[in-house]
Amino acid sequence: MATVSIMWFRRDLRLTDLPALTAAAAGGRVVPLFVIDPAFSGTGVPRRAYMAAALRALDDSLDGTLVYRHGDPAVVVPALAAEVGAGQVFVSRDYGPYGRRRDAAVAAALGSDGGRLVGVGSQYAVQPGEVRKADGTPYAVFTPFSRGWRSVGWEYPTPPPEVEWLGAPDVDCDGPPAPVETNVSIGPVGEGAALTRWDTFLEKGAAHYHDRRDQPAVDGTSRLSAALRWGTVHPRQLLADLTVQEGHEAFANELAWREFYADVLFHRPETAWRNLNQRMDAMPLDTDADARRRFARWATGTTGFPFVDAGMRQLLATGWMHNRVRMVVASFLVKDLHLPWQWGARHFMAHLMDGDLASNNHGWQWAAGTGTDAAPYFRVFNPTSQGERFDPDGEYVRHWIPELSGVGGRAAHAPGLLRPDGYPPPMVDHAAEREEALRRYRHVTAGSR
Ligand SMILES: Cc1cc2nc3c(=O)[nH]c(=O)nc-3n(C[C@H](O)[C@H](O)[C@H](O)COP(=O)(O)OP(=O)(O)OC[C@H]3O[C@@H](n4cnc5c(N)ncnc54)[C@H](O)[C@@H]3O)c2cc1C
Repeated sequence: MATVSIMWFRRDLRLTDLPALTAAAAGGRVVPLFVIDPAFSGTGVPRRAYMAAALRALDDSLDGTLVYRHGDPAVVVPALAAEVGAGQVFVSRDYGPYGRRRDAAVAAALGSDGGRLVGVGSQYAVQPGEVRKADGTPYAVFTPFSRGWRSVGWEYPTPPPEVEWLGAPDVDCDGPPAPVETNVSIGPVGEGAALTRWDTFLEKGAAHYHDRRDQPAVDGTSRLSAALRWGTVHPRQLLADLTVQEGHEAFANELAWREFYADVLFHRPETAWRNLNQRMDAMPLDTDADARRRFARWATGTTGFPFVDAGMRQLLATGWMHNRVRMVVASFLVKDLHLPWQWGARHFMAHLMDGDLASNNHGWQWAAGTGTDAAPYFRVFNPTSQGERFDPDGEYVRHWIPELSGVGGRAAHAPGLLRPDGYPPPMVDHAAEREEALRRYRHVTAGSR
């Protein structure tokens, strides 16, 4: 009798360039599995809607044979393995804190029945933990990490293997995840859609990426973050098409940031929600009722700072926000409103389709000055001049803030005395809050001497 194994899909919802699937297919028939883990119910709605769409696309490419099981993976995976007589369950390794705990529990449960969880590859070009300094310790700073990352390197992508599938309806299936309601338009999803988007970006955007990536009114970035988050495309597939031209180099550098943050979180899993730089634990932050009111204005895009408000409204409407604006709204929450970065990170995770614990929470720590040391706390973004610089014609802010539609050009960033109908005046004085942020920072540095 032919051997049966299971391919348990998680953050790798594709068939091309999937080393775990290639390994599973080499050993006989393969059961394609996705587990609807009760832990998902706490995650953001746009992210779950994106996942459901990516699963539909995967199931279509498997001719409807994807086996869904609902429940705790440590229970349902060994149960399926016993049902189909599979000795091995193949997965792409998950390096996040929850994924590691879950996989340890599944491996232990499978092991007690003589089965094995086999990790092959991951969602990164270089596995977290692999890039190290000469003395074996991990990098804490991006630039040397990225040099090490490039020198470790990656394989060329592989085509989909020949697979003899054993799936639904021959294997019982609990059905896809319950539909989730969202006002966010998910758009084309799946590995075909990701590669189409990539081809368009390669043809029209990649060569100019270094120039355009900071302009939120321009479609100058790949918009592949959710596809990378769910693994409908692998970074190896993107890296393989890049050359040494400036735009391409800048793009590879951003992929390196994604891998750097995964590496940092792998070595320091507690920093998902705690300051990487523990000295910053002494920073006085506001958490009272007034702080919560300030947070609500930030979250609803009604701070009176157009660049910030446009970003927050883009997030709520689309489940995505431009990177430059993510940095500015994050800085505003921490340094103008003096709120904990965790409040903002939680809000982002609830609304982003690409919500990813490593990139998000370490992106927040970068902006807050509590993380990897490239952006110290005393660098404070001015939300108005950032808008004037990166959205010089005011196109982005007018798009997301209809109240500003009558304010022409770059004046849209500082509507000030024009007082457009229905748009609030700035909720704080940026110059004063910048001083306040620096005062609080001095308190920390003085305390640590
Ligand atoms: C406060 C904050 C929170 C963020 N939260 C997330 C998140 O939850 N999920 C997420 O994928 N990215 C996050 N980012 C990083 C970045 O904003 C997004 O990856 C990017 O905007 C996605 O758009 P894109 O695919 O068009 O990016 P591109 O500019 O086309 O970049 C290509 C890919 O590189 C990666 N990348 C780009 N910039 C970064 C970065 N600064 N850090 C890590 N990876 C990067 C992404 O995978 C992205 O898809 C965050 C950044 C900040 C400042």
